Formats: sequence, structure tokens, C-alpha cells
Amino acid sequence: TNISSTEDSFFDRQERIDWWEQDKLKNATILVVGAGAIGNETLKNLALLGVGNILITDFDDISKSNLSRTVLFKKGDEGKRKAQTAAERIKEMALSDDFKVNYFEGDVVWELGTGVYRHVDIVLGCLDNVETRIAVNKQCYLAGTPWIDAGIYELGLRINFYQPPHAPCYQCSLSPNQWQAARERYSCDDFKKQVVSEGKIPTVQIASALVGALQVQEAIKFLCGQEVPVGKQIYYQGKTNDFDVFDMPDNPDCWAHQASYDEIISLDLDTDILLKDFLKEISKAENSGEGATLDFRGDRTFVKNMSCRTCQKQIEFYRPSFRIFDYESHCEECRSEGENSTENQTPAPKETVGQFNLEKTEERLLNFSLKELGIPILHVVAVQDTEGKHKYYELTGDKKKLFS
Ligand SMILES: [Zn+2]
Ligand SMILES: [Zn+2]
Repeated sequence: TNISSTEDSFFDRQERIDWWEQDKLKNATILVVGAGAIGNETLKNLALLGVGNILITDFDDISKSNLSRTVLFKKGDEGKRKAQTAAERIKEMALSDDFKVNYFEGDVVWELGTGVYRHVDIVLGCLDNVETRIAVNKQCYLAGTPWIDAGIYELGLRINFYQPPHAPCYQCSLSPNQWQAARERYSCDDFKKQVVSEGKIPTVQIASALVGALQVQEAIKFLCGQEVPVGKQIYYQGKTNDFDVFDMPDNPDCWAHQASYDEIISLDLDTDILLKDFLKEISKAENSGEGATLDFRGDRTFVKNMSCRTCQKQIEFYRPSFRIFDYESHCEECRSEGENSTENQTPAPKETVGQFNLEKTEERLLNFSLKELGIPILHVVAVQDTEGKHKYYELTGDKKKLFS
């Protein structure tokens, strides 16, 4: 498509850079994970530069202390949703009439499927925690989509460029402390802690402005086919004005950058479909055939029930573990009597299910939607046939919910 003459004049100065390709930015789709301090800067840059399609994810509300670091939010926005508010503000800011911005409010770790990463050109990580970075990294390598991680501390900042299938990836160099930090949100039962002490790091708006600029600069270079710092960290320390580019360490034992799909089959189905209807569809001869089994492959756990930690009475859940809170490991009666300890060291025995099939799965679960079972939006699911062979299906019917 040609750029209209109006847009041409909006972007006249940047188009004077000889390698610049405004059309590529206009046609690009970028996923921005996190709409906090860094995300605000990154999103503002993308909108002004004329990037055409943006998907924003964030699960948080705007708080008072965000406002000194967030160019898209203003006084009075406290309590509003970050992703939605950021989407509205960059929509106002974008110069192109057919600019598209969508947002997703959910837990990126558990609720954003691999297919989302397959349908974008690049992912920009504007995050403040290890757990979400691990999840984004894994999905990007599965999807074959590059991502740029950004981080700040005081006046220090860094970006890291990862391009599948090339090592190193984010997971290659994680320390035991970082792995520990990635578990912070969970109890020993893998249930979500109701109260998580938030890591409040010392940081300032000027650091997020600098890192957001650097991150978007590299994304633009990538989209325009310029050389990018694959496998490198770009680092700047404002206190001393040290600037450096490092090679990141590669870890041959890291599985995250070695995981990929040979083939993904696109199905025009979405996560609202009932399990029984999904199983009928994949049991067709042209898919995985009669007896096909939806297989979580240890990726997530659906918990039917467990015994109360206090009185051993059966507690019924019928929920994926990431939708259960730690305090729920005591039954309601025991909780009403004041039992609320969540400091357990060993997981309690549970009845879980990770494989679903028309013959063996109970009627009650067959009437659950895939979403209720804990399958993320636009996910790629594994299905095993009766000979034990796996095929991978994308729930492409969800695409219109995120990219419209
Ligand atoms: Zn790796
Ligand atoms: Zn009890």
C-alpha cells in the first residue's frame, strides 16, 4: 500500500534517513508486554513513528506512584486499567487514520497463547519481573518471533535482543536467585499467593525514557531490515555515562531456545468452544482421528480437588491451578475458624487432569469451555492420536479478538 501524501508529510523527516521504510512500520504488528513506566515510553515512540498495529498487554491498574513515570497517564487516572488507558491515549496520539491498537487484560504467563506471538513481527518486553520474562522468552522461541527485553535500575538501563532460533535466549543465563524470584507468586501447591510483596525498585522516568527509546530504535532497525544486536546486551549507566555492548552468555543445556514446533495446523476454532465440540473436531479423520486426546503435556495443571490441609475434607476446585489462591488449600469451614496458614513446605496431594478425550473424560468436564480448562487465548495446543503421535493446533478463531 502507498502512503498517502498527508502521512508522507507527517513522516517526512524520518523518511530522509536513507534506509528508512515507512511502509514497513505502517504494516508492522508489535506486541508490547507491560504498560508501566517503560511500556508508556515505548508505546509513545511507536505511535509517533507511525507503527501501524499494536497489541498491549497488562493486568494492572494505574497507581499514584506510576504517574511520575508514565507519559500516557495523567492525574485522575488512578485506578483505571493500564492497558486500556494506554491504548486510548496512543490512539489519540497516532497520526495515521488506520492506526490499530488492541489490548489484552490478563495474566501474560498463563493466559496469552503461543499463537499471539506468531501473529506479530516483534515483541517488546517492558516488564519488571523475571517470571513474565521467562514466559515471554519461551513463547517467542516457540513462535519464532524476536523479542527485545528492557530493564532499568536507578540511572542504569539495558536492552537485550533475542532472535529465535539463535542462542542465547533470556533463560540461558538465569541465576538460581532469578529462578527463585520467578516462583515468588506461587505457593508450594502452585496456587497463586493472594498477597505478593511487590519488588519496588529505585527508578526514575528519565531511565525509562532512555530505555524505551533504545528498545524502539532497535525494533525499527529490525523492521527495516537493518543489522540488529542479536544475542547482545546494550547497557548504559547514567551515573558515570558508561555505555557498552556485551555478548550475552550462551548455555548449551538451556531447553528454552531449543524448543520449537515442526508444524502448526490452524483451526478456525476459539477458546470459547466446549471441550466436547473441540474433541469431536480434532477426532475427525483429517485431523488427529478417532480417539484423539487433548494433552496439556505438563504445561499447566487442571485441579479437580484436594484434601483440606487442616481437616482433610475434600475441597472441590475444577479450576486450573493458576486460578486457585493459596488460602483455598484450607476448606471454608477451617478458614472461618481462623486457619489460614499458607506457609506450607510440601505440596498437598491433589486430583488433577492433564489429558482429555471423548471416551475417558467425565461428562462434567466435556461441558467446560477450553478457556475454563485454562487454555490461553489463541494458543497452540498439543493433541495426541491413538498411536501416540502429537500434532499441534492453533486456535486461530481467537485471532479476531486481539487483532482487529
Ligand atoms: Zn536459552
Ligand atoms: Zn478443613
